Amino acid sequence: MSKKIAPTPPPIEANPRPFAYRNRLLHCDGADLAALAAEHGTPLYVYSARQISHRLQLFKDAFAPRPHTICYAVKANSSLAILRLLAKQGAGFDIVSGGELERVRKAHKPALKKVVFSGVGKQTWEIDAALEADILLFNVESEAELHLLAARAEALGKVARFALRVNPDVFAETHPYISTGLNEHKFGIDIKAARAIYRKAAKSRWLDPAGVSVHIGSQIRKVDPFAAALTRVTSLIADLRRDGHNIRYVDAGGGLGIDYGPRASTSAAFDPAKQVAKYAAALTKGLGTEPAHLLLEPGRFIIAQAGALLTRVLYVKKNGTKTFVITDAGMNDLIRPALYHAHHEIIPIKQPAGKSTLTADIVGPVCESGDFFARDRILPPVKPNDLILLLDAGAYGMSQTSNYNSRPRPAELLIEGDITRIIRRRETMRDLLAPEIL
Ligand SMILES: *Cc1c(COP(=O)(O)O)cnc(C)c1O
Repeated sequence: MSKKIAPTPPPIEANPRPFAYRNRLLHCDGADLAALAAEHGTPLYVYSARQISHRLQLFKDAFAPRPHTICYAVKANSSLAILRLLAKQGAGFDIVSGGELERVRKAHKPALKKVVFSGVGKQTWEIDAALEADILLFNVESEAELHLLAARAEALGKVARFALRVNPDVFAETHPYISTGLNEHKFGIDIKAARAIYRKAAKSRWLDPAGVSVHIGSQIRKVDPFAAALTRVTSLIADLRRDGHNIRYVDAGGGLGIDYGPRASTSAAFDPAKQVAKYAAALTKGLGTEPAHLLLEPGRFIIAQAGALLTRVLYVKKNGTKTFVITDAGMNDLIRPALYHAHHEIIPIKQPAGKSTLTADIVGPVCESGDFFARDRILPPVKPNDLILLLDAGAYGMSQTSNYNSRPRPAELLIEGDITRIIRRRETMRDLLAPEIL
């Protein structure tokens, strides 16, 4: 795998910002966003390849002292071109479905060897496909799933390497919808029950108890919970070794959070390199002298800040005292504000000259009151036809799009230095209706 690593890693700056004004016009690296909108239409997702590589490199550097594989969480952004970019720089992948397995195969087949398969509801066909692909590790989330895995491995004559995804009962402060590490959540297996399950599993010649896995949630900003979870996992691994299991992998999951806050304050406060270094120190503390090969499953931290959603203002309207800015992007294009009350910074494509502002709700055209991007947001004045950018939308943006209200999905562009590549064309009316039968 070492020969596949990109020849020149990007220079490590503290916090390179792909989206910045140049001559008062917003650019993504070398590309002028107004020009991209004119050529490709809106709404439009734009990603910086340089930023994606940079974030991957931060993890590689921070974890260089120990054997590790970075298994990018495909669900954060599953565009084939982005998967290929990461795979060519040595990344593996964390998948949660047979569809994501297919994406990895298509993006970069050799990366199948570096796939870990998570998820509470794996189906027979998905397990079969992953066994045939000879993936690295199944992260098993229940005893029933383990039984199915053993049966399918036997049927296909393959030995399945597995880790139990244990639930460490650790609290991590984040939105309740993306917290997963407590007993009350559907994820994983109670860590206290794990040892007995490994013992039973080891009796099957079709199951290889190869690791232990944990994932406590997403958008976690403080690193202490990661250390606490790994301390518990490491002590379980010691028990498992005593029981005679050959544990080679410890999977620490993903979940490291980013700063979605206003730019002015974050530029000084948020230093991604420091954040990854702190995260690595926390994991190292939790692992102690544990020598197992470390698997990491970052999604958001790699891709969120590399991407943004470009949208055009359709209308500005007043209802009583409230002002609404209505954009051509809606909740079907970016659901995070509606689903998690997530904050996305919104900036105009033309750098404002004056200091005047407008307080408005930024909303989409979808027929739902939940279809908003921001409420009572202070913005520079905008008028119909202006372009605005929703920042930090690279993760859980495009991958959570839908066709709700029969709206075609947006196009996606990848900026590679001075080169702009269409990595997904805008959906057409034909695409929209294709699966239907009249
Ligand atoms: C969603 C998920 C991840 C990625 O989480 P991020 O917060 O995007 O880093 C990693 N592992 C598992 C099992 C997940 O479900």
